[in-house]
Amino acid sequence: MLRSVLEIAWPPVCEGCGDAYYSGDTPGLCDSCLEARLFPLTEPYCEVCGQSYRGKMPSHLQCSNCRNRYLEFDFAVGAYDAEGEIMDWIHRFKYAQEIHFARMFGKLMTRVWEDNRMAAQKEWIVVPVPLHRKRLRERGFNQSLEIAREWMRHSPPDQKMRIVNALKRDRYTTRQATLDRRERLTNLHDAFSLSRAGRRCPQDANFIIVDDVLTTGTTASECATVLREAFSPNKITVITVLRG
Ligand SMILES: [Zn+2]
Ligand SMILES: [Zn+2]
Repeated sequence: MLRSVLEIAWPPVCEGCGDAYYSGDTPGLCDSCLEARLFPLTEPYCEVCGQSYRGKMPSHLQCSNCRNRYLEFDFAVGAYDAEGEIMDWIHRFKYAQEIHFARMFGKLMTRVWEDNRMAAQKEWIVVPVPLHRKRLRERGFNQSLEIAREWMRHSPPDQKMRIVNALKRDRYTTRQATLDRRERLTNLHDAFSLSRAGRRCPQDANFIIVDDVLTTGTTASECATVLREAFSPNKITVITVLRG
């Protein structure tokens, strides 16, 4: 009740248009900006990485990013295209400590439930992509963990999920965003391993790896490798707010 009283007195301001708004389900975004400023990923999309073909029906089910490559996860689902203003918001979230964006991104990522392959399983272990502890100290929070928490708050009630920080990042690597494609594909080799909490995960589980953006899929695939080698999982999926 306190929150609703406060919201009437000081309504939240939309990150898109800067206006105060009273309606809408997405924290930090009014309904018209949600419509106009974001680009949802729609079918048909690559069955591996979730890249949208934007209406053009492909002659094959794998995009140019995934063809001739083996990715260790079963499939990835993104919610929105990595273009437009949301790229600035992601940047402010990660590099300007604007942690409040986790609420918006977690809500936006609930679109992944529209993919039938997600709804086909009912029990998941949710694994945020870890930061190296040095990077975690610099940033103060792990963006993937924050998004995962918010996303879970809005997820279907018939889904049984728990977050386990099952992985750790052992090497302090160059940021993927600063590398070209060829460098990205090899930069993270052997960068991840199981954490102490991760060692207690059950065999045959379904895992969801959570990250903010999927570009080449290398980060997620390296994480999936560790889980696959340790647990022979039933499913490993990857969900992200954005597909780059
Ligand atoms: Zn707006
Ligand atoms: Zn693909």
